Amino acid sequence: MNIHEYQAKEVLKGYGAPVASGVAITSADEAEAAAKQLPGPLYVVKSQIHAGGRGKGKFKELGPDAKGGVRLAKSVEEVVANAKDMLGNTLVTKQTGDAGKQVNRLYIEDGADIDRELYLSLLVDRTVGQIAFVASTEGGMDIETVAEETPEKILTLPIDPVAGVTAANAEELCNALKLGGAAKVDGMQLFPILYKAFVEKDMSLLEINPLIVMTDGHLRVLDAKVSFDGNALFRHDDIKALRDESEEDAKEIEASKYDLAYVALDGNIGCMVNGAGLAMATMDIIKLYGKEPANFLDVGGGASKEKVTAAFKIITADPNVKGILVNIFGGIMRCDVIAEGVVAAVKDVGLQVPLVVRLEGTNVEKGKAILNESGLAITAADDLDDAAQKIVAAVG
Ligand code: ADP
Ligand code: MG
Repeated sequence: MNIHEYQAKEVLKGYGAPVASGVAITSADEAEAAAKQLPGPLYVVKSQIHAGGRGKGKFKELGPDAKGGVRLAKSVEEVVANAKDMLGNTLVTKQTGDAGKQVNRLYIEDGADIDRELYLSLLVDRTVGQIAFVASTEGGMDIETVAEETPEKILTLPIDPVAGVTAANAEELCNALKLGGAAKVDGMQLFPILYKAFVEKDMSLLEINPLIVMTDGHLRVLDAKVSFDGNALFRHDDIKALRDESEEDAKEIEASKYDLAYVALDGNIGCMVNGAGLAMATMDIIKLYGKEPANFLDVGGGASKEKVTAAFKIITADPNVKGILVNIFGGIMRCDVIAEGVVAAVKDVGLQVPLVVRLEGTNVEKGKAILNESGLAITAADDLDDAAQKIVAAVG
């Protein structure tokens, strides 16, 4: 689960990280009062969307010459003018895709005098099985570009889970970020704080880009992007309360209610599969035969009739879907039960697009018979290859 920058800063502030004061608003009427709560004279008006690259982003409605999604303002009046200009418009950034995201909330923040912009993040490093810091002096820009062009400027530092962030670890990070004086004192405090927040709140990513050294020599967390491990949310009611469903795909929200692992994609062949590995293979083979999957969907091991019906409804709610491929391996689940679920779901949602079903496993013959005798326009397939070819042909 992702949260907004202003929420992430609130969480980090709770752990004692240095963040600027700021006020989140949802209407331009609130802009003046928000700015007046801040010290001034420099303010920043920041679009709150679940995507990065806001500063360099462009508002669809405002033309190519308009300013981006993060704007400096030198007076309360400028804050108000920018808030009016930005709210309600669609911000397109490197991370939003062409459709962009509507800006429904702004964060009015105290402006900082920046000396240097650094990059600092924490993530779960699967290659070593530990949480690791990633640090670079090249902040404020795309870390992917830094990784490609000047990988020597990036330090990856795994943290021993028993020892936590040691003084030696913090020292190494200070060196990588070239911190001295007050910035180093701040850094030695900040690194363990961030690690503690990451572990306690079950984060999967904590990215501060940029972490800045201000002209007064101190550090400040200027941007914060936090993702949480969805499987651990049950033990963090405070974090769950930060969820902003308007930032998420409506179909993905619906799927999560039924415990379906669903990810919306851009293609036009809807997929319903049990098991993440089989789902990936199904998407691959659709691509192999020249089409694109409309989604990833894993109905899980114990797919009930209700789950299969919900899955069909979610898949068919996507107007791009021109055909559906059901690929189920009946292991624990029996194929006849799945076939009954498919038939019931098709009748229930009144399917309008071609449907190819490939069943394999326990009671497969019984399952195929149920599909054949249903009187519905369901094409049965013998294997994965056959299924993919049939659905690609049907979609045309
Ligand atoms: P994004 O990464 O989505 O573009 P950031 O929060 O990193 O958004 O802001 C982009 C840039 O705007 C920063 O790299 C920094 O130069 C500037 N900026 C952001 N917040 C402030 C602030 N409070 N004071 C001064 N400059 C800021
Ligand atoms: Mg940033």
